[in-house]
Amino acid sequence: MSNGGYQDVVAKLETLKSQFVARVIAELDLNIGRLRTAGPDEPGLAIVRDGHDWLHRLAGSAGTFGFTAFGETARALELCLQPVVDSERADQQAMLAQVLDVNFFTRLDSLKSLLAADAGDSAIPVLQNSVTATVPEALLRVDLLEPDPALSRELADSLSRYGYEVVAFDSVPAFLASNPSGGITTIIANIELQDELQPVFDHQRQLHRELVIYLSRDDSFDVRYCAAVTGAGGFFPLPVDVPALADRIEQLSQEWEESAGGRVMVVEDDEELAEHYRLVLDQGGLSVSTITRPAEVMTQLAEFRPDILLMDINMAPYSGVSLARMVRFQPEWLGLPIVYLSSEQNRDTQISAVAQGGDDFIEKPISDERLVSVVKARCVRARQLAKLASRDSLTGLMKHSLIKQELAKEYSRCQRYSQVAAVAMLDLDHFKSVNDTYGHATGDTVIRSLANLLRHRLRKSDIIGRYGGEEFVVILPDCDEVQAERILQDVCDQFSGLVFSSQNTEFEVTLSAGIAILGEFGSAEAALNAADEAMYHRKNHGRNGVTLYSSMRQTGAGEGVASG
Ligand code: GH3
Ligand code: MG
Ligand code: MG
Repeated sequence: MSNGGYQDVVAKLETLKSQFVARVIAELDLNIGRLRTAGPDEPGLAIVRDGHDWLHRLAGSAGTFGFTAFGETARALELCLQPVVDSERADQQAMLAQVLDVNFFTRLDSLKSLLAADAGDSAIPVLQNSVTATVPEALLRVDLLEPDPALSRELADSLSRYGYEVVAFDSVPAFLASNPSGGITTIIANIELQDELQPVFDHQRQLHRELVIYLSRDDSFDVRYCAAVTGAGGFFPLPVDVPALADRIEQLSQEWEESAGGRVMVVEDDEELAEHYRLVLDQGGLSVSTITRPAEVMTQLAEFRPDILLMDINMAPYSGVSLARMVRFQPEWLGLPIVYLSSEQNRDTQISAVAQGGDDFIEKPISDERLVSVVKARCVRARQLAKLASRDSLTGLMKHSLIKQELAKEYSRCQRYSQVAAVAMLDLDHFKSVNDTYGHATGDTVIRSLANLLRHRLRKSDIIGRYGGEEFVVILPDCDEVQAERILQDVCDQFSGLVFSSQNTEFEVTLSAGIAILGEFGSAEAALNAADEAMYHRKNHGRNGVTLYSSMRQTGAGEGVASG
């Protein structure tokens, strides 16, 4: 096994990094000084244009050298200057004074300290993966680009009921002037703006064409095809089917999340090689755990929980093939994809290795680029498969068995650490008649809408499952009765405000929920039954709302409890 010039790579990267720092220090003083002298005249505008270009270059390069916060600030400052650079000459001078305010210069000055602060972060420059860093919360934002104010208001209003933060713009310049740098967002745009919008993706790294959904009055093949050519992620004719649109936004963001990152564990006894893989995969945006001592495999697996395991074969006195078999002894890891990464070139040995508990074989040496793309692709696939097994196909939520496991886990956590957690059972009201009136497909849309709403309204740490047909279970860790009631009442209110349509009729659906506090019961099962009982109590007392098991007992209302 060769070291693949690893030391050389590190040394080169280190040298590049020092050069970068030295150059930026000099440029900082020069550019800050110049921007401070920029007056509202033609020479001032020239300085701002130069300053804008300089910040743009900085924002593009800093992250590569490990200066994340620095790069982000440079990007934000670049975008402050953007409106001046983009606007008509007549407006530029007036804008200048507004843009170059105290706040701007304070942030500009802060670049120096950010550079110093970041410099000690890592000896080896590591490219931060902006995708994984910004995905989770950011995708709740939707930027809406629609010139028609009435349509824009209506859409923003409907989508915000699904828990999206909708920011509306009437034009592409207005959108750009808003500083669209706060992370990755879904963009919904009128197709009339397509020509103006497309070039934007070439210089705004944080905007992605595959996260664009076009709206169009013209629903012809040609128009749809044009939208597809731009690489857009969706197309909806006007008037918009809002639940379907919300669903598409959700799908796009999930696909995005799945394609970002991935967790890989590497078992490789050559320490430098292991470090090389770690560096390269990490640079590729993956989370990596490396193991050089095979005896640590099982404990590390349990701790790190990778999407895939990359396994060297020859690790004297150990064999990767036997290690793979050993991993499979544990039922928990039966589904874990194991990929051999080995310089073994004999096809027969490769095939036999795969036959004995591995899934695939990658031959060493492999170029860094290929390694990253191969591992990423396998992580995505592994995640999709894992999800298929444990997730409900209609809603993407946890299936019945998994949510029960999670509930048991949360129950014992509460016991051990004396923490408070709530469990809620939710059931759609009169759902049978929704199906009977509008058809099963429309019913499915309603179920998916509730799933989407729950995903958005609840915290990342909350656990959501589809318990049965139109029944959902929600686990709220660190949440007492009062908070749980407030949160679920909010969900009920939001949900009842959603407008569905079918066969030109608009309709609304409500839900009933029951809540129980885990710690008040002898088992997770008992708590769930109590939540169920509270839910049926609500069904018998007007539906559309929340009942706490404890208050249902107190008011002696148990007499109204019915079944089914
Ligand atoms: P209640 O307010 O008392 O809960 O009345 P309900 O009509 O909602 O309750 P019921 O249990 O009588 O009916 C539930 C309906 O949910 C019947 C079933 O066909 C429907 N359902 C269950 N799973 C699905 C599904 O995946 N898709 C659709 N469209 N309907 C489903
Ligand atoms: Mg029901
Ligand atoms: Mg039911």
